[in-house]
This record gives sequence, structure tokens and C-alpha cells, in this order.
Amino acid sequence: MQHYDAVIIGAGAAGLHCAAIAGQRGARVLLVDHAERVAEKIRISGGGRCNFTNRDTTPAQFVSANPAFCRSALARYTPQDFISLLQRHRIAFHEKHKGQLFCDESSEDIIAMLLRECEAGAVTRWQPCAIHDISHGPGGFEIGTDRGPVRAARVVVATGGLSIPKIGASDFGHRLARQFGHSIVETRPALVPLTFDAAAWQPFVALAGLSVEAVVSTGSGKTRGEFAEDLLFTHRGLSGPAILQISSYWRPGAPLDLDLVPRHDLQDALSEAKRTSRRKLSNELAEWLPRRLADAWLASHPDIPDRTMPEVRDRDLAVLATSLKQWKLVPSGTEGYRKAEVTAGGVDTRELSSTTMESKRIPGLHFIGEVVDVTGWLGGYNFQWAWASASACAGSLAG
Ligand SMILES: Cc1cc2nc3c(=O)[nH]c(=O)nc-3n(C[C@H](O)[C@H](O)[C@H](O)COP(=O)(O)OP(=O)(O)OC[C@H]3O[C@@H](n4cnc5c(N)ncnc54)[C@H](O)[C@@H]3O)c2cc1C
Repeated sequence: MQHYDAVIIGAGAAGLHCAAIAGQRGARVLLVDHAERVAEKIRISGGGRCNFTNRDTTPAQFVSANPAFCRSALARYTPQDFISLLQRHRIAFHEKHKGQLFCDESSEDIIAMLLRECEAGAVTRWQPCAIHDISHGPGGFEIGTDRGPVRAARVVVATGGLSIPKIGASDFGHRLARQFGHSIVETRPALVPLTFDAAAWQPFVALAGLSVEAVVSTGSGKTRGEFAEDLLFTHRGLSGPAILQISSYWRPGAPLDLDLVPRHDLQDALSEAKRTSRRKLSNELAEWLPRRLADAWLASHPDIPDRTMPEVRDRDLAVLATSLKQWKLVPSGTEGYRKAEVTAGGVDTRELSSTTMESKRIPGLHFIGEVVDVTGWLGGYNFQWAWASASACAGSLAG
């Protein structure tokens, strides 16, 4: 039977990076993935240009039941460490928005770089190759695969989250964690569009495709999230960066609070317009909102007539201003794992070492990347977690 220092399951972002570092430090590494193609999520990420990190990464941009867990790994492998790797491979990149770094050319550049790094570490890669079972005894792990059984002192689970099952996502990592007695923080789709009850959403269906700047918040105390970004109306609900971000904080049944005119005191502005403008209310509202949204908003308040400003009642102006500044909505659900960029929840970090990602229950078993209950905001943070957790783990894999 073949013997390795470490078998890494999942040749995605975290698995490839971990295999490369461990291999280059002298570990005999086998990397196994059941999918035909390597690193599909890197390939499709960032619209094909992979938003591979965020310059401004801190632990504050991660959601977890144990928020301090990510601190150590993120501090020890920084965005600059990954940037230096890209620079050594002469991969050109640029900053787009709020510290987000993208490849100039293609995500394929990152995949090719990680594969070259694995080669430099003499990593063996079996792909496609399914894992059938894993057992643990005094001599380490025995892993049953499509290509026969192998033994390893350590097993690293890097099988990622549940989103986009058609490109290889599976719940393997969560099942394996449970098999070895680990708890799973309940998983849910995150960075995902939110949907609303069809009847309640009817007034807004015609706005599909419209984008507006907004401040969106939900939750309270430590689980509160608030984002000022663009919001996009869709046929079934809301999307756009503001909504994708807040979806990671949203819990079923909870309301969202939206401010659709975030930079202005709308009540003041409308009162002023009542004194100084002879335009119709709809035209005045369209000064502060996209025209289609202003019209739809008035239409959804049939008791407020579209009169010239001096004729509009103060009470009606107050109702409109409040409804736009404090729009409260309860989503009926999300677009699910089919559309989610990531999975929130996962292997409970309270049972893992924050320095090596090793299980506190089963020595030699490690979990890295998205399978762990650490979920980054939109903007390159999830890849930074994949690189950082992989690096933290890799140091402990050499025989
Ligand atoms: C459309 C989309 C766009 C994204 N864009 C960005 C972005 O621009 N920036 C960013 O930071 N994040 C982005 N993300 C999130 C990011 O891709 C993930 O967080 C990241 O890939 C997680 O890395 P990972 O190695 O943990 O998992 P993955 O990269 O998903 O890799 C997991 C690997 O495990 C394999 N696997 C699964 N089950 C098994 C099994 N049973 N046996 C063997 N192998 C298995 C899979 O085939 C896969 O290769 C995006 C996600 C999606 C879906």
C-alpha cells in the first residue's frame, strides 16, 4: 500500500496551496479530487478574473460562530504574501474597488501558478478520483480511493462549501467531520440573492435590472451586519453587492432594514421642495431616486396622490420619506446553493487548532478553506481565507 505524509482531499484553492507549501517543505503529499477539472471555483471566480485577495483583509470581514478563530492564520499569511507569490510568477493584476485585487488576464493564471507550485513540491495529484472511506487508527489514516487504498499520517479536508454542486461541490467534508465526532455549525447559502413572496414582490417585478445605492442592515448585537453598496432589483427579489453581503448575516424570518436614499435627509429635502418647487411629487422624488423606482414607489402608495408639491400633505411627505429611508422587508428565502457564492457555517472552529487547523478530537486530521465555519465578505476575502488557512496547516504536514 502506498504511504504519504499527508493526503489532501480537494484540489481547489485551499487544497492546492496547502499541497504546494507542504510539498516544498519536504512532505510527501497526495492531492485527491473527484472532479474532472482542477479548481473549478477559481476558474469561474471574479467573472473569470479571480478576485484572489483583498488588500484590506482583517478578521472583521469574516462571519463565524467563533469570530476570533481566523485571526492567527490571517495574521501569519497576509494578502501581501499571496501578492508576492503572484509577482514571482509574473502574473499581472489590478485593484478594482475597495482593495479587491483581480488578475489582468484570467483566473487560469492563478490555477497554472498553483499547479506549478505543486510540481515544485513534487505533489502527486489523483484526479478524478473518489474517496470511498477513511479510517483512523494508531498508525494514522487508511483512505480507500478509486485507485486503491493509501495510508497517511495526516488527512487534510479541503473539499470546500456546498455552492454550485454541478462543478464538484459536495458535503463530503461535513460528513467526514461528523464521522469523526465534530460538530457542524448549521450551513446556509451566503453571498446569495434574496427572494420574496411572489404576491408581496409584485409591485417591484417591473423594476428588475434596476440598481440603486443603499444601506442595508439586519440582525442585532454581535450578529448585526450593515453594508453601504449597490442593490439590484430582480424578478424574484433583491441582489447586488449590498444584498449579497447582507445575506451572510440574514437569518430566516428576520427583517432587513433598507435606506434607499442613504446620503440625504429626504424628509428635509421634500419639505424644502414643498416650499420652493411647483413640480409634481413624482418628479421631485425622481430627483432622489431612479425615475422607475420613484414611480413604482408612488404607485405602491395609492392613497398618496401625485399632486404639485405645494398641494402635497406634510403627512404624505413624511410617509414617503420614512418608507424610503426605513424600508423594512422580510425575505421569504434565498436563491439557494445554485446561486450562492459561498456556504456559511461548516466545521465548528471551537474544535480546531487556530494555528494548524488540526482537529482537537482526532490528531492528524485537518480542515481548511470554506469547509470550515469561516465565511468572508464579498471582495476577495474567501480566497484569502483559503490561502491563509492552507498555509497555517501546511507547516505541520512534513513527516
Ligand atoms: C461563482 C463564484 C465566484 C466566486 N468568486 C470569488 C472571488 O472572486 N473571490 C473570492 O475570494 N471568493 C470567490 N468565491 C468563493 C471561493 O471560490 C471559495 O470560497 C473558495 O474556492 C474556497 O476554497 P476551497 O479550497 O475551500 O474550496 P474549493 O475551491 O471549492 O475546492 C474544493 C475542491 O474539493 C473538491 N471536492 C469536493 N467534494 C469532494 C469529494 N467528495 N472528494 C474529492 N474532492 C472533492 C471539489 O471538486 C473542489 O475541487 C466564488 C465562488 C463562486 C461559486
